[in-house]
Amino acid sequence: MKKRVVVLGATGSIGESTMRVARALPEQIKIVGLSGRNNTTRLLELAREFPSAQLCAGNEASAAALGAELPDHTILHGDSGLEQLATLPEADIVLVAIVGTAGLKPALQALESDKDLAVASKEILVMAGEQVMAAAARMGGRVLPVDSEHNAILQCLDGKDPATIKRLILTCSGGPFRNATAADLAGVTPEQALRHPTWSMGRKISVDSATLFNKGLEMIEAKWLFGIPMEKIDVVIHPQSIVHSMVEFVDGSIIAQMSSTDMALPIQYALTYPERYAGPCAPLDLASVGRLDFEEPRTDLFPALDLARRAGTAGGTLPAVLNAANEAAVDAFLARRLSFPGIWESVARAMETVPFVEHPTLEQLIEADRAARSAVGDRL
Ligand code: NDP
Ligand code: MG
Repeated sequence: MKKRVVVLGATGSIGESTMRVARALPEQIKIVGLSGRNNTTRLLELAREFPSAQLCAGNEASAAALGAELPDHTILHGDSGLEQLATLPEADIVLVAIVGTAGLKPALQALESDKDLAVASKEILVMAGEQVMAAAARMGGRVLPVDSEHNAILQCLDGKDPATIKRLILTCSGGPFRNATAADLAGVTPEQALRHPTWSMGRKISVDSATLFNKGLEMIEAKWLFGIPMEKIDVVIHPQSIVHSMVEFVDGSIIAQMSSTDMALPIQYALTYPERYAGPCAPLDLASVGRLDFEEPRTDLFPALDLARRAGTAGGTLPAVLNAANEAAVDAFLARRLSFPGIWESVARAMETVPFVEHPTLEQLIEADRAARSAVGDRL
């Protein structure tokens, strides 16, 4: 059956890989909705390539500019536009690839209107994983991970009894500063942090990969997606990024998923789940990779993993605070108003100062998110 897909954040890096999948699988995937925010040029190109897609621009002015180029289209915009796309009657699945937490409301709206959800935006699961998974359970919708590690785990689990899982092992490239010293880290510039050794991605996740907050967020993401407690979620450094993650079972067997470093594969598997098709991902030539290395993460130098473990274990508002403080700190770092170590120092401080709520409502999570952002901003 052809999947009718809405892509929120279609003009970004994940959006770009999703279009490669859609082009390669025209019999399996039909793009019915596309959103972008600032990049109206790219949204216009995509609208011409996928003419039956409903469109949503970032604001009224960009919607009007697009409308002038596309007289046959009604162009939606802003939050109400994202909601209309997320609840589009003709859609089967909504892929949320908006950076940060701006995709949370549309993700919940998509589930509430009986759609499946493909989640790239790990931040929404870190902030409100309980709410997202509860909405999915209530409505009978699926939450399918696009993040390569979680998609790998989904492939490794493949219907196995959750009681037989000993632990999930998330692999981590180690980022561009895997072999750095504390003195090196103090002087890291945005340009250096944006140069990821194995993946080409958007700016925010590239910085998160350099601080290892990306892996910290992914530990919390895994907790919600697979219903596994934090103490059963481990991280191992694997510089080649060929093993995308692993599951260890109680009998000592470890099942790993391997493929080229190309997001097209996890995107495709999430969109066509549980089917497999020949798609755009290049085959993996293990002999040319040569070797696969694994090592312990350096938690002394990169406090993000311990901070995330603490937040994920405590639960309540703490993951939302960690996530929002990190987003604000990454913005400040990219704007050269904060040092690289200042990112985790800001997050640690926000986790100490923002009031903790153990069983928060969605409104309390939004308030914790806001308080964490201002806790970071007030000190800059
Ligand atoms: P990009 O920065 O490349 O793209 C982000 C997309 O979201 C763009 O389409 C952008 O529009 C849109 N956008 C940004 N802010 C808003 C907003 N406030 N409201 C509406 N739309 C917005 O990011 P990535 O594609 O790299 O990442 C997207 C998500 O996927 C992140 O959560 C990331 O952690 C996750 N992810 C990414 C991976 C990757 O390989 N890139 C791997 C695994 C997860 P515009 O550009 O038009 O302004
Ligand atoms: Mg990942």
